[in-house]
Amino acid sequence: MSKKRNNPRTMANKTQEDGGIHFPFPFTPYSIQKDFMAELYRVLDAGKIGIFESPTGTGKSLSLICGALSWLRDFEQKKHQEEARLLETGTVPLSDRKDQPPFLSSSFKETPDTLRPAGEPDWVTQFVQKKEERDLVDRLKEEQVRRKKREEHLQQIRHNAQLKYAAKRMRREEEEMERLLHLSREMLAEGTGTEPLEQLECGDEELVLAEYESDEEKGAARGVDEEEEEEDLEEEHVTKIYYCSRTHSQLAQFVHEVQRSPFGKDTRLVSLGSRQNLCINEDVKNLGSAQLINDRCMEMQRSKHEKSRAEDEKPKRRRQEHQAACPFYSYEQLQLLRDEVLVGVKDIEQLVSLGKEARACPYYGSRFAIPAAQLVVLPYQMLLHGATRQAAGIRLQGQVVVIDEAHNLIDTITGIYSAEVSGSQFCQAHSQLLQYMERYGKRLKAKNLMYIKQLLYLLEQFVTVLGGNIKQNPNTQSLSQTGTELKTINDFLFQSQIDNINLFKVRRYCEKSMVSRKLFGFTERYGTVLASSREQSRLAGFQHFLQSLQPALTETPVPHGDEGEARVPRSASPLMHIEGFLAALTTANQDGRVILNRQGSLSQSSLKFLLLNPAVHFAQVVKECRAVVIAGGTMQPVSDFREQLLACAGVEAERVVEFSCGHVIPPDNILPLVICSGPSSQQLEFTYQKRELPQMMDETGRILYNLCNVVPGGLVCFFPSYEYQRQVHAHWDKSGLLARLAVRKKIFQEPKRANQVEQVLLEYSRCIKCCGHVGGTVTGALLLSVVGGKMSEGINFSDDLGRCVVMVGMPYPNIKSPELQEKMAYLDQTLPRIPGQPPPGKALVENLCMKAVNQSIGRAIRHQKDFASIVLLDQRYARPPILGKLPAWIRDRVEVKATFGPAFAAMRKFHRERPGPS
Ligand code: SF4
Repeated sequence: MSKKRNNPRTMANKTQEDGGIHFPFPFTPYSIQKDFMAELYRVLDAGKIGIFESPTGTGKSLSLICGALSWLRDFEQKKHQEEARLLETGTVPLSDRKDQPPFLSSSFKETPDTLRPAGEPDWVTQFVQKKEERDLVDRLKEEQVRRKKREEHLQQIRHNAQLKYAAKRMRREEEEMERLLHLSREMLAEGTGTEPLEQLECGDEELVLAEYESDEEKGAARGVDEEEEEEDLEEEHVTKIYYCSRTHSQLAQFVHEVQRSPFGKDTRLVSLGSRQNLCINEDVKNLGSAQLINDRCMEMQRSKHEKSRAEDEKPKRRRQEHQAACPFYSYEQLQLLRDEVLVGVKDIEQLVSLGKEARACPYYGSRFAIPAAQLVVLPYQMLLHGATRQAAGIRLQGQVVVIDEAHNLIDTITGIYSAEVSGSQFCQAHSQLLQYMERYGKRLKAKNLMYIKQLLYLLEQFVTVLGGNIKQNPNTQSLSQTGTELKTINDFLFQSQIDNINLFKVRRYCEKSMVSRKLFGFTERYGTVLASSREQSRLAGFQHFLQSLQPALTETPVPHGDEGEARVPRSASPLMHIEGFLAALTTANQDGRVILNRQGSLSQSSLKFLLLNPAVHFAQVVKECRAVVIAGGTMQPVSDFREQLLACAGVEAERVVEFSCGHVIPPDNILPLVICSGPSSQQLEFTYQKRELPQMMDETGRILYNLCNVVPGGLVCFFPSYEYQRQVHAHWDKSGLLARLAVRKKIFQEPKRANQVEQVLLEYSRCIKCCGHVGGTVTGALLLSVVGGKMSEGINFSDDLGRCVVMVGMPYPNIKSPELQEKMAYLDQTLPRIPGQPPPGKALVENLCMKAVNQSIGRAIRHQKDFASIVLLDQRYARPPILGKLPAWIRDRVEVKATFGPAFAAMRKFHRERPGPS
C-alpha cells in the first residue's frame, strides 16, 4: 500500500512475478494489485466463481486486464505444449489419464469402456488398452489439426484474407429471410378464400405474415444433411474473456486501459454495442429510439433480399418499390472491417470511425469478429439476457466471464427480466392487431389467424383482469377498484382465464413470425398515409385512437446496461413490449409474481412481472462458463451474492472465492466515525417514527453546523429519502439554521430532475474552487444529497469536492412495499436459516440498506493521495452485524463515538493536520 506509483509513461511494461507467474504491468503495481492479479489468475485457472472487491482508485481495471490476460496467455501456451508433448511420445499413458489436462476437448475424456471387467484375460486387457491409446493419439492429432486450421484462419484475418465464415453466416440469415418472403409471395399469388382478394397497396406484401411453421414441424421436414451442414457452419470460438460493465463510458474506459496496457498491441479485442451506438447510416440513426433503429435496419436488410430476388424473377411479378438497402451492409466491406477489428484494440467510437472510413457497418462487423476474439467487451444486457446473448452470437461454453461494477448485479438481472405493461399499451396493441387482421385476414393462412386471435384474446383478458374494457378508450375509462394486488403466475393465468393457452407456443410464434415487426410496419404506414377513401373511413377511428394515445407515450424507462439508450421516445410497437411480458409469464411459477397495479384510469394501470429469483437466469452463465468473476468497488455485503445469486443458481459454496483488497491510501487518510448522539446529547436514531421530530432535525442541524466549521472544501450530506431531505431543509430554513450554515458553506440541494444534476455539480465545484482562493468566511460548499439518488452513484467527489461525507440515518427500503414483502417471504421460504443470523428476508433488508450506504460513502476517496472523513449519524450503525457490512478498508478503521464531544475533537484534529483546499 505504501508503494510509490511510478509514472506509467516512464515505466512501460514492468513484468511482475508472483508464484512463478509473469504479470506484465505498465508500471510497478501496488501490492494490492499484485494480490488481486494472483488471486484472479488462481480463480480462472481453477474454474471458480470469484467475488472481487477493490475500492475505486486502486487500479482495479488494470489488475483485471493484466491478471486475466496473463492467465489466457499461459492457458494457450500450456495447451499447445501439452499437445505437442503427447503427440511427440505418440502414446498417452492410460494410468495418467486422471491427470489429463482440463483444456482437452470433451471428446477426449475417459469413457466407461476403459474400465475393464474383473477377471478378463491379460491379453484382452492389453489389446483393449493399446487400441484405446491409439484412439486417443488419433483424437489428439485431430484436435491439433483443428487448432492449426484455426490459427491459420486467424493469420489470414490478419492478412486480410477471405472471410468465408462471415459470408456463410450472412448467407444463412439471407436464406431464412428468403424463405419467409417466398412463403408470403406464394400466399399472395394463391389467395385463400372464394371471394376475389382486394388489390394490395404497393409495399403491403412485406407486411403480410408468412405461413408459420413451428420448430417441431420444421425439424421433422429437415434432413440430416441439413443439420450436418449447419454443424459445419459453426465457427469455432477460441477461449476468451467476456468483460461486461454497466455503461458505455465504463466500457470505453476499460478499452482505453487495455490499449495502454502491455497487452494493448497483440490482444484480439472486440467491443460490442447496440445498433443505436454503432449504426453509421445517418437516415437510420436519426430515427432516435433503439427500437426504431433496429426495425428499420432489419427492414432494409429484408429489402435487399427482396430486391435481389426481384431481379431474378422480373417477368413473373409486378414491379414494386423498395426501401433502399443499407449501403453499409455488404459482405466484402464487412469482411474488411472484421479484419480491422481484430488486428487492433478499438473502442466503440473508434469502431464507428473505422466503419465510416471503410463504409462498412460496425454493428455487424464487430459481431462477426466474436469467434476469433480473445477479449470481448460488452454491456450487461447483452451478456445477462439469454435471448440477446444468443442473437449476438455469444457462446459461453468453457469461456471466462468478468462482470465489473457488479454491486447491483442482482437488481440488474431482476430489472432485465421484469416487464411492465400499461393498460394503454394493451389497448393500443389490441387495436393495431385487430386492424391488421381486418385488412389482411383473408390472405393469412389458418395458423397465422389462429395465433393472431389468441394474441387478441390474451390482450383482451389482460385488460379485463385490470377491470377495464378493451373496446373503450383507456384514457377515459376509470376503474372501480384501485390498489396493488400480487399474484403467483398460476393464479394470475387462472384469474385471467388464459390458463388454457400455451404461452410457450404463442411466444415462439411471436419470435418466429416477427408479428410485432409486421404490425409496426403496418402502423407506420397507416398511421400517417391512408391510400383509399374506403380504407380512410375504416382506419380513421383507429388513427384517431392512436393519436389520442400519443401524449401518454413520451418516455421509455432507461434500458438496463445501456446508458446511451436512455430517454428515447417510445416507439409505436407496443406488441414488441408485450412480448417481453408474455415471455416472463413462462417463468416457473415459484420464481416470479404478477403485480396488478390498478390506478384511477385504465391507461395509468399496469400489469408488472416481478422476478423473485434472478438466479434462474444467472444459472446458465455459471454452468456454461469455465470461470466467472464478479467485481466491484464495493461488493459488501457479499452474502447477497453468495446466497441469492450463486447458491440459488446451484453453485456449490466451495466453488466461490472471495477477495477483498484494502485501499491504496495510507490508513491515516480516512476517518470513519459512527456518532451515536449529538451536541445536546440527543440520541441519534433516525427511525421512521423519530426522524421527523423537531428535536431530531435540530440536532442534525447542530452537528452539521459544527462539522462545517472544521471541514475544508466540500461536504456531502446524504439523507435517506428525497422527501426527508426536503422536510429537513424546510425546517432549517424556518429555524434560521440554514442562514447560519451559509456563513461557512454555500448550500446546494440535489435537484429532482436529472438534467439539472450537471449544472448543480458545476456550481458546487466552482464554489469550492473559488473559496480556496479568495478567503473570507465561506470555506466551501455543502451538498444536501439523497441515498440512491442522482448523486450517490457514478459521481466522483474526489479531493476538495468531498472532504467529508455525512450519512443521516440508515436508508432502509420501504418495508411496506408489496414487492419487497414478497421478495422477503420468498427468501425466507427458499434459503436455509443460518444459526445466529437474521432470517434471510430480514437480512435482505439490512443488506439493501448497507449497499446503499456503501455506494454513497464510496463517492469520496478516489485516489492514493485523497483524504476524507466519513460520518455515520445513527447509533444503529454501532451494532457489530451492521459494522461488518461496511467495506473492509472502512470497517478496519471505524471509531464508534457515544457522545459528540470526542467525535468533534477527532474531526477537528483530522482536518487540521491536513492541507486546506488546493
Ligand atoms: S446495417 Fe448497420 S449501418 Fe446499416 S442500418 Fe443496419 S446498423 Fe445501420
